[in-house]
Amino acid sequence: MLGLEALAGRLSRSAAEQFPLRVPRGFVGRMRHGDASDPLLRQVLPLDDEERLLPGFVLDAVGDTAAGIATGVLRKYQGRALLITTGACAVHCRYCFRRHFPYAGQAASRDGWAGALDAIAQDPTIDEVILSGGDPLSLDTPKLAQLTAALARVPHLKRLRIHTRLPIVLPERVDDALLDWIDGMPWPVAVVVHANHANEFDADVDAAMGRLRGTGATLLNQAVLLRHVNDSVDALAALSERAHAAGVLPYYLHQLDRVQGAVHFEVDDSTALALHDGLSSRLSGYLVPRLVREVPGDTGKRPLTPLRQDPADG
Ligand SMILES: *Cc1c(COP(=O)(O)O)cnc(C)c1O
Ligand code: SF4
Repeated sequence: MLGLEALAGRLSRSAAEQFPLRVPRGFVGRMRHGDASDPLLRQVLPLDDEERLLPGFVLDAVGDTAAGIATGVLRKYQGRALLITTGACAVHCRYCFRRHFPYAGQAASRDGWAGALDAIAQDPTIDEVILSGGDPLSLDTPKLAQLTAALARVPHLKRLRIHTRLPIVLPERVDDALLDWIDGMPWPVAVVVHANHANEFDADVDAAMGRLRGTGATLLNQAVLLRHVNDSVDALAALSERAHAAGVLPYYLHQLDRVQGAVHFEVDDSTALALHDGLSSRLSGYLVPRLVREVPGDTGKRPLTPLRQDPADG
């Protein structure tokens, strides 16, 4: 096991200036101390690997700047409007596709939600609103309640979804006020959390998930496939099983968005497919996440499919 001193010379000032180190104390507490290869540490530490530039690793990897219909509202897929509620997160994940997103003045909360509400109200094809960010739960609950109270007056909405990593990295955010807010919503609610490794769960996270389930919300997990974090069948199987034990079903396993600074996290497609096959042959069907990639201009997340084998190559 490498000690942490092995990493000291590899910390990057420019990476930390571009996207500062940020991680809640409780999450640090779930790391294996003194282990430079800890999978939780790897997700948050600004290393000199981030200075590696490769063609194809760009600033706007998922076409976010092209999909806006109002300030902080993205409509890429049929029926769904995704709200950039805020740019703030409780943790800064080094591989995040939004690390370069131009957030200043771009959040839907900027004008008291007016522009976002207007755009959603005017498009009757939107039946689901996704609160995303940044992390929507980094806004205070009254601010979120103000938004959903206004959305409740939009007749064509049928579902509400919350994309948040906060119940994982800061489970104490799941307090009574938050639960009352979710409980009081007029639509079925799905909470999609984001954990990449089984070690991200502990008793506090279990308790937070239990409280969220108590509202009747559907709990799902999306993970990102990350080199040296969860790129083994064992790690992915443990993640699915651990999440399920906490009451959360796996939803997506994302191929990394090719964002500048994240080169060292990439797992190539053939390895990704082999890992996914390994998972499928080991786990119950409902514990196998869908392996997908986001392709700008697509009508939805694109499932990874095997490259066609030319029989002559065998
Ligand atoms: C990922 C995403 C969604 C949600 O897609 P699902 O496949 O329904 O989870 C919606 N809007 C945008 C802009 C997205 O990036
Ligand atoms: S919590 Fe989500 S949005 Fe925030 S830095 Fe991590 S991956 Fe990005």
